[in-house]
Amino acid sequence: MSGTLYLVATPIGNLEDLSFRALRVLKEVDLVAAEDTRHSRKLFNHYGIGTALTSYYEHNEAVKGERLLEKLRQGQSVALISDAGMPAIADPGFFLVRRCRDEGIAVTAVPGPSAAVTALAISGLPVDRFVFEGFLPAKTKARREALSQLRHEPRTAAFYEAPHRLLATLRDLGQELGDKREIAVARELTKLHEELFRGTAEQALEHFGASRVRGEIVVMISPAEQEGPSESLREVLQRRLAEGDLPMRKIAKEVAKEFGLPGSDVYRICLELQTNGEDE
Ligand code: SAM
Repeated sequence: MSGTLYLVATPIGNLEDLSFRALRVLKEVDLVAAEDTRHSRKLFNHYGIGTALTSYYEHNEAVKGERLLEKLRQGQSVALISDAGMPAIADPGFFLVRRCRDEGIAVTAVPGPSAAVTALAISGLPVDRFVFEGFLPAKTKARREALSQLRHEPRTAAFYEAPHRLLATLRDLGQELGDKREIAVARELTKLHEELFRGTAEQALEHFGASRVRGEIVVMISPAEQEGPSESLREVLQRRLAEGDLPMRKIAKEVAKEFGLPGSDVYRICLELQTNGEDE
C-alpha cells in the first residue's frame, strides 16, 4: 500500500498558529519536504520536531517530486510544508499533488493559515466572493495589463506583493482602475507590526510612500461597481412610458433595439412596470 501525502499549513508569522494536528503529523510522518529546510528548522526546533527534513522548492519540483513519489509508492508518509502558510497556494505543491492524484496515492491536508484568506477576512472589503491572483507580474507593462483585466471584476481581488514593488503597484493600480475602487493592504499579518490599511490607491500611496515599506504584503481591490443593465433598461422604459406619446408596443420595440434585447422581453417588462405603477 502506498503512503499518504499530507499538505501541512504552517504559521504565516506567529509560531503559535501551528495546529495540534499539524504538530502531530509533522512528528509522525517518515519525511517532511520543506521549501527551505533552514527556515523550517526554526519551527522544528521551537516545537521539538525531530523528523527528517528534505528540500522541495520551485526549481527542483520535478526532479525531487519524482523521488518523493517513489517514497510514497513504497508506503512512506510524507508531509509537505512551505516557508509559511498553505503549501501549493502560491508555493510548491501542485506538481506533487497532481501526480499523487493521478496515481491514486492518498493526499490530504492539515489546513491552517494562508495569508490571502487571512487578509481578506480582516480587510473590511466584501468577501462573499473573491478572486486570488497570486503574485502580479514584476514587469510594469505586464502588471498593468493584469490590473486592467480587473477593471470590471465583480468580486474582491487579492494578490501577494513584495514590499519593494508596493508603491509602483499602487501607482499602476490607480492608473488602471481609477480612484473609485476601495483597496486594502494587509502587512505583516499575525506579527508584531501587523497593519491593515484601507482607502483609495492615492491614499495608500501617500500612506506607504512616507517611509520605506517593509514586511510581507497582501493587496486587495474592492469589486467594480456593476453597471446593472436591467436597471437602466427599466429607467429608460419608465421615462418613455411616462412621456405617453407612443403606444407601449412601439416603445418596447424601440428600446429593445437600443439595448439589443428581444422585443417580447422588453414588452413584458413594460407590462410589469405598468402593473406595478397601477398598484402603487
Ligand atoms: N502559501 C502561502 C500562503 O498560504 O499564504 C503564500 C506563500 S507566498 C510565496 C508568500 C507571500 O505571501 C508573501 O510574499 C506575502 O505577499 C504573503 N504573505 C505571507 N505571509 C504574510 C503575512 N504574515 N502578512 C502578509 N502577507 C503575507
